[in-house]
Amino acid sequence: MKISRLETFADQYVGFVRVTGDDGCEGWGQMSPYNADITAQIFHRQIAPYALGQSALDIEGLVDLIPRREHKFPGSHLVRALGGVDTVYPDLGNGLGDAAAAERVANARLMPSGPPVVSRAPDPTPRDGEIHTWRVSGDVYLLTGDGANIAVQVGPQGAFIVDAGSGKLADKVVAAIARLSAKPVQFIVNTTFRPDHTGGNAKLQTAGADPSLTGTFFSMQFQGAGRAATIISQLNTQVRMIDQKLPAPPSDTFVSDRRRKYYNGEAVEIFPMRNATTDGDSIVHFRRADVIVTGDIFTTTEYPHIDTKLGGSVQGEIDALNFILDRTVYVHDEDGGTMIVPGHGRVTDEWDVADYRDMLVIVRDRVQALLKTGATLQQVLAARPTADYDVRYGATSGPWTTDMFVEAVYTSLKTPPTTGRVK
Ligand SMILES: [Zn+2]
Repeated sequence: MKISRLETFADQYVGFVRVTGDDGCEGWGQMSPYNADITAQIFHRQIAPYALGQSALDIEGLVDLIPRREHKFPGSHLVRALGGVDTVYPDLGNGLGDAAAAERVANARLMPSGPPVVSRAPDPTPRDGEIHTWRVSGDVYLLTGDGANIAVQVGPQGAFIVDAGSGKLADKVVAAIARLSAKPVQFIVNTTFRPDHTGGNAKLQTAGADPSLTGTFFSMQFQGAGRAATIISQLNTQVRMIDQKLPAPPSDTFVSDRRRKYYNGEAVEIFPMRNATTDGDSIVHFRRADVIVTGDIFTTTEYPHIDTKLGGSVQGEIDALNFILDRTVYVHDEDGGTMIVPGHGRVTDEWDVADYRDMLVIVRDRVQALLKTGATLQQVLAARPTADYDVRYGATSGPWTTDMFVEAVYTSLKTPPTTGRVK
């Protein structure tokens, strides 16, 4: 029996639907009583076209099908109708006739300000003293619990690690990797020099081995070559670690725009990101699993930790995020596609990276506009150019506050980095 007729009977407070089949059979249903007369119009516009001609005996399948067909605007009609007042600004500005008044309206929109907000950025990193393992995609896993995120790719050749954590739980990290891989760690990539990413270097390195080095030219270069994992990074990361006397700096460095490995049957690419949070960041792309490990360039927990003294800049950050977005692929209407392992926070996909990039572009443009008026740092801070993002990424205390971030944006726009580009 197919649905041949759909009728609604509604007033503002109650609404019924009569369904008639092609054999004349009838059935009644009820819509939500909330503004039922409006709902009846929606019923005829958005429900009926998909229901007519379908089997009346498979209502369940129909209820499943219709939201998929009407996927474009899943929000309520209230939100859509709200656009009617929410989008009035530009026209209102034009109507003011006075350019200065229009400008004020535009700026009122551009520069929201408000009192400082305490950080509410959700940080899912467990702090129970244990290492937690989560499969991201393919043979790539995420280990959390010891500072920055650790990514592990496993396979017949051994384990390939991106970042080593803070080192406080290094023994547990080694044990967690051993549960994923019977073979030792062969390669460790450091995406940055920062201790929460490199503190575990020494222990993870000595727990590993790099058979590709024994008996080669490199085995004569340094003692113990091959008897531990090889740590890889762009040159500036090694330079920073040696400068700051951090233990176990990388021994295998590169200055090219791409470092390639083929490991465990998978293409692995390492890209240096110039002048992003520092002049020493890298990202790693596992191409078969299609997982990108971003280091501190992207986090879900805070504003990017741009260190202008070490060659970081807001423009380099935006460039790096655009570089990542040039490599990602999304799944239409769903989570997934290229998976992103951030330096800190939860695993995600392209959507969050694009949102983060947009946020940085907006903040950059606001600070740039203030700079053009000759604003001092104090005036820029007072204008609160990040106000509408502070709830998500801001902090008023801790190692990386909102004010420190705004200062970094201001400084790197005023004096863009000129050093740090190793070529
Ligand atoms: Zn970090």
